[in-house]
Amino acid sequence: MVVAKRTVTRSNKLGPEERADAIATLRRKELDILVIGGGIVGTGAALDAVTRGLSVGMVEARDWASGTSSRSSKLVHGGIRYLEQLDFRLVREALIERGLLLQRLAPHLVKPVRFLYPLTKPVIERLYVGAGMLLYDLFSYTGGRKPGVPHHRHLTRRQLLRAAPSLAGDAFVGGLTYYDAQVDDARYVSTLARTASFYGAHVASRVRVEGFLKVGQRVVGVTAHDLETGDRFEIRARQVVNATGVWTDDTQSMVGERGQFKVRASKGVHLVVPRDRFQSKLGLLLRTEKSVLFVIPWGRHWLIGTTDTDWNLDKAHPAATAADIDYILGHVNRVLAVKLTREDVEGVYAGLRPLLAHESEETSKLSREHIVTHSVPGLVVVAGGKWTTYRVMAKDAIDAAVDALDGRIPGSTTEEIPLLGAEGYQAAWNKRAKIARAFGVHKVRVEHLLNRYGVMTDELLDLIRSDPSLLEPLPGADDYIGAEVVYAATHEGALHLDDVLARRTRISIESWDRGVSAAPVAAALMASALGWDEARTEREVATYLKRVEAERASQEQPDDASADRVRLEAPDIVVR
Ligand SMILES: Cc1cc2nc3c(=O)[nH]c(=O)nc-3n(C[C@H](O)[C@H](O)[C@H](O)COP(=O)(O)OP(=O)(O)OC[C@H]3O[C@@H](n4cnc5c(N)ncnc54)[C@H](O)[C@@H]3O)c2cc1C
Repeated sequence: MVVAKRTVTRSNKLGPEERADAIATLRRKELDILVIGGGIVGTGAALDAVTRGLSVGMVEARDWASGTSSRSSKLVHGGIRYLEQLDFRLVREALIERGLLLQRLAPHLVKPVRFLYPLTKPVIERLYVGAGMLLYDLFSYTGGRKPGVPHHRHLTRRQLLRAAPSLAGDAFVGGLTYYDAQVDDARYVSTLARTASFYGAHVASRVRVEGFLKVGQRVVGVTAHDLETGDRFEIRARQVVNATGVWTDDTQSMVGERGQFKVRASKGVHLVVPRDRFQSKLGLLLRTEKSVLFVIPWGRHWLIGTTDTDWNLDKAHPAATAADIDYILGHVNRVLAVKLTREDVEGVYAGLRPLLAHESEETSKLSREHIVTHSVPGLVVVAGGKWTTYRVMAKDAIDAAVDALDGRIPGSTTEEIPLLGAEGYQAAWNKRAKIARAFGVHKVRVEHLLNRYGVMTDELLDLIRSDPSLLEPLPGADDYIGAEVVYAATHEGALHLDDVLARRTRISIESWDRGVSAAPVAAALMASALGWDEARTEREVATYLKRVEAERASQEQPDDASADRVRLEAPDIVVR
């Protein structure tokens, strides 16, 4: 008798070999669960399913998190503004998740961030906002664990100006501060995909689902297209989970389902501005006519956003317009003593919120709640929600899928499953000065690595030991070093230069030239890690440069239609 090799976990690598192995298995084996979509919800669902002991596959049409999940405000938050809409359930659930992510699941990736809410009117506004913040703090205790961040505080006008000297002083009478958390959204998703793979899920990016396999009305799998090789093949699964965000209507239409709900796309734009352009120790939460504007500390930068407008154009490359940029600058300039101009903007990015909608609703009023339906036998759809509550969405989706599977299947365990890099993070953090001394680098460099890779920083240090030149920073993107590019290709599922510059690092939005000078150096590093020839390397650089050019040009356009047209002049990644 031949006994199949079974192990509890696999290598933590997610490189080209692991992708090839995953595809070979997807072609061969009937899975318990196949997840479509490698955003935060899909990767969360894959981890949830595999850690219940199920056989799991996941395919993503482009790169991990290349849809909405790399383009958010990067806040792991309860959403203080939803209190005003009396959406207490949503806020409470998100705050419990915030505590879990901060303290247990990913302390290396999720960090506290302190916000200032400036007040324009005395007494009444202070009482009103203060009551909301008190409730926010209280909700964060209800998960049976400490919130992981300090409580809110009241500030006088003088304290406010000391904390944020660049605020136009005469505009405010005082303020309040409160805490939320923040995360590099794309990095979290690729780490989550690696974690799912580590526990045994067969995961592959650049594999697009193009149809469903059916027996009668029942979905029994999908037809898939490997965009790297051009191969088309079938994947069979007892249950398929559709987690395709703003693409949900498109994927559901492939199965001929009438649709119990629609997912509408609402565009949100952010600007990236150097941190030194104005002085504040805290992030800012500012009210606008329709919603709120966040000014969020982001390393050596500020993220400022967002907008909220209906979007019916290309979903893969939502484009920011000149009008979006001016709208954001106009709003932030209302509160700053020294005004920002377009020359201060280093980076711009746009994302699409997947909002659950009935045909007639306006985007700003649509629900941030999520929905799970089992509309066709064999197919579960999960949509809506927010990044912060991904784990709950994933659990609900897999609960619905396992309901239809035979046998007793354990409940979700993801509350107890830290992401790769998390276990031992605090001990590694406490050793950071020693590590820095041993490598002859500044402590900040080691902190940067620990906050992106957790204890897997050791693997990057091994790379540097064998080739010290990998300690060199990338041109125009000082925060990042060569080892990160190599590691992204060998361990983190980066298949293209764009994956590295836009998502494994955030060079495409954080550097003045948007990664143009880093591109050839990063491409050469990827070439040696992945065995690219010269032609392939040049093609990767050319594709990336065209993307930057098209994005810059689209950001000069007055409206969505022209910005979309200009953005689409850059070709998508083609391998051959
Ligand atoms: C501007 C903005 C700011 C936001 N800020 C926050 C915030 O601060 N905090 C927060 O909690 N939430 C925030 N959100 C919401 C949050 O980002 C989203 O709810 C979340 O990222 C959606 O994740 P998803 O996995 O559903 O979708 P996506 O990330 O879009 O993933 C869907 C994936 O499916 C893939 N796909 C599509 N079709 C196919 C196919 N046929 N085959 C294979 N794969 C396919 C796509 O390529 C995509 O990667 C924000 C959203 C926006 C737009």
